[in-house]
Amino acid sequence: MFICKTISFAAAICLSVLLTNGLTGCQSKGSATSETTTSSEKVAEKTETAPSSPDPEVKPADDVSGPIANAATILARPQVPILCYHQIRDWRGSDSKGAKDYIIPVASFREQMQMLADSGYHTILPDQLYAYLTKGAALPSKPVMLTFDDGDLDQYETALPILDKHGFKGAFFIMTVAIGRHGKQPYMDKAQIKDLSDKGHTIGAHTWDHHNVKKYQGDDWKIQVEEPKAKLEAITGKPVKYFAYPFGLWSHAVLPEIEKRGYTAAFTLADKRDDTMPLYTIRRIIAGGQWSAKTFYRNMNQSFDGK
Ligand SMILES: [Zn+2]
Repeated sequence: MFICKTISFAAAICLSVLLTNGLTGCQSKGSATSETTTSSEKVAEKTETAPSSPDPEVKPADDVSGPIANAATILARPQVPILCYHQIRDWRGSDSKGAKDYIIPVASFREQMQMLADSGYHTILPDQLYAYLTKGAALPSKPVMLTFDDGDLDQYETALPILDKHGFKGAFFIMTVAIGRHGKQPYMDKAQIKDLSDKGHTIGAHTWDHHNVKKYQGDDWKIQVEEPKAKLEAITGKPVKYFAYPFGLWSHAVLPEIEKRGYTAAFTLADKRDDTMPLYTIRRIIAGGQWSAKTFYRNMNQSFDGK
């Protein structure tokens, strides 16, 4: 297949395909909202999505020995809300309406994080989620996972200080072709990725140049899935165990390919999980840049409630 060799094209395709291919899979069922209120009211209604109270069935988080749960058991566990972010910056005049779903204004991101903190949420990382899903390990009360795709520089410069304010940690899925890229939409360099890792955030892979995993053949698996893992491991000095599908696109046939290349789990967007390999189809929703805080809270809980 055609493999893009230029950084600029890869970066362009990353966003442009997101915006033009009718990617309804990016959005949760409850996300198609036109609500535009800017209410910052604190919503502290119901929903504790995953168990937090003492439970004889719940193992301590450090118990990672023995066999892991089967697919049916994993699918039966309450889902942890997982949010996906891309660019964290104020909108520009040239940003299309569709683009704004992938660009969250700084004030909106700050408001969403404040709401999570005020509502008692605790961020968890992929290792904790994996232990919960496979071993029944305990999670903190009101768990949520924050994930950031592509490796945009504003995730480091803008989002990180806001995460730090609340003691939140996130998972960052890096598109390796763009590491250190400068330009209108710059990307994190190696030192910044290492710094995130050193500070306790998780670094995951998001392919080399953001091509659709469903179309890989021949050397694509090496270029898009194996080499980015090795590169990120060299940067961070840690194993890279988690993968996020570009555009959230996957098929049943690609799941064993991801698994056999050493990834422990992989993240989609709002699709239904695979019946036999749920660890490789962990759901996320894109937290809309046009959502009010109230809409954010409602969509986050509805999307992960009972599926
Ligand atoms: Zn992406």
